Amino acid sequence: MANSEYEYVKREFEFDRRLPPSNWIVVRIDGCHFHRFSKIHAFEKPNDENALRLMDTCATAMLKKFPDIVFAYGVSDEYSFVFREETEFYHRRESKILSLCVSYFTSVYVMKWKEIFPNKELKEPPYFDARAVCYPNLKTIRDYLAWRQVDCHINNQYNTCFWMLVKSGKSEQEAQLSLKGTSSKDKNELLAQQFQMNYDDELAMFRKGSSVYREKVETAMKVDYGDPIKRTRPILRVAHVDIIGSEFWQNHQHILREGKCRYEFMKQFDINHMLPPCNWVVVRINACQFNQFTTIHSFDKPNDAVALSLMNESASLMMEQYPDIVFGYGFGSEYSFVFHEKTELYRRQESLILSSCSSYFTSLYMKKWKKFFPHKELMPPPRFEAEALVCPKLKILCEYLSWRQAECHTGNQYNTCFWMLVKSGRSEKEAHETLKGTLSKDKNELLFQQFQMNYNNEPAIFRKGSCVFRQKVHGSDNGVTIERWDVKVDHVDIGAGFWRKHPWILGC
Ligand code: ATP
Ligand code: ATP
Ligand code: MG
Ligand code: MG
Repeated sequence: MANSEYEYVKREFEFDRRLPPSNWIVVRIDGCHFHRFSKIHAFEKPNDENALRLMDTCATAMLKKFPDIVFAYGVSDEYSFVFREETEFYHRRESKILSLCVSYFTSVYVMKWKEIFPNKELKEPPYFDARAVCYPNLKTIRDYLAWRQVDCHINNQYNTCFWMLVKSGKSEQEAQLSLKGTSSKDKNELLAQQFQMNYDDELAMFRKGSSVYREKVETAMKVDYGDPIKRTRPILRVAHVDIIGSEFWQNHQHILREGKCRYEFMKQFDINHMLPPCNWVVVRINACQFNQFTTIHSFDKPNDAVALSLMNESASLMMEQYPDIVFGYGFGSEYSFVFHEKTELYRRQESLILSSCSSYFTSLYMKKWKKFFPHKELMPPPRFEAEALVCPKLKILCEYLSWRQAECHTGNQYNTCFWMLVKSGRSEKEAHETLKGTLSKDKNELLFQQFQMNYNNEPAIFRKGSCVFRQKVHGSDNGVTIERWDVKVDHVDIGAGFWRKHPWILGC
């Protein structure tokens, strides 16, 4: 299909999670509602041998179809398929691997049903769910398989006892009660004493589940003259054996072989999260342990105007370094930077955007420190954390910014009251107590009555925080009028009115 103007919806919106390289990929399939399915198809309880054989047949077909599956282990209505560590099956794309496996398994299940149950009609379509899990080394993949087999043992021993009790006349509830809290040993004794049954004599298929794998066998090819030629070829085996201990794996070392290290492979480990396209990207930077920092550098409380100017200058310089930042909003020790929705900075790789913003901001803050605080030594160095968020709609972006401004208001009003109380002689604890549970209105009244202060006359930079954005200005160059975009800092409401007045900022 030729690329059309609409092709970008596939290229940019389809996220295909790739499973990490150099890991065994396990796809575990489990029958959906098989409790019911087994009932309506009158499976024998606790184990219907034919139903299990059908599952094994499907698993064998899977290994035939997908050569990268090196091992499969099944019990009840589930099967785990282990893909070799370095498989490049569908470039390790999770959704492809999962859907193909579960779909092919289901289709074989339906196809082979008639062969295995010639006298039973398939009353409803069977279906399975599937998940993919990655195991990075031999120990974890072996432990995964051991875990499934232990599970098989525990469930099967329980079910064997349960159904023996039910078949001997107990109700299902009574059977459940008699088994409550019993150990594995107790269950074996119950079977021996009440039913003269040795659990170990039960079919290995029930006790151990099914393992499917390839085994090399030597075959003799007949030739017309002379001795037959010996060839080894892999055949598929279904075995009901112990895979918890090491014996099986000792004898079948070819199944879970660790691949050789390939250096060119290393870059595939660099799995970088990409921010979704056509979304506004906001990087919010926040100083860590700033409370301590403000004390050490004896900032004015509640607001050190010079410190805020330093933040604003750093933010303005950020806009010069990153042309894709269209807007910044900050107060206290935080700043949010809005990248326009189409930014391709670092191909929208989250970690690179985050880290470079946080690092450049830190660097600017430190470089400009002397200009704002010529008599204060910067000690210890500040550090800023950063996080990225994405806003799919303009409206959400505007609401995000309004939310930050509301936080600025609430915080500043509280801090203003708090520090007025402290400066008037209250202890910090008393000041907090006084303000506990007060509304915005109460705080304004407190300021007015106790300190003759009108909160709304406080500097806008404290109350509204700071916006940074580009604005067209007319200058003159040798008498010729020219236009240029300057970065402007303002302290105003960033509601609908602001966006109407500055339509170019967000491009609307
Ligand atoms: P879910 O959709 O959540 O997986 P489920 O009903 O399939 O629910 P499972 O925990 O997967 O629940 O249990 C599988 C059920 O299918 C059990 O009740 C088990 O007894 C029954 N079952 C599966 N295979 C057989 C079989 N070969 N013989 C008898 N019963 C079986
Ligand atoms: P964290 O590491 O969790 O972010 P923090 O100590 O940085 O902890 P914040 O909630 O970020 O805690 O608060 C920052 C502190 O710095 C607040 O107490 C705030 O009042 C103070 N602060 C920030 N900017 C200024 C400023 N310009 N003038 C005075 N104090 C300020
Ligand atoms: Mg199930
Ligand atoms: Mg199950």
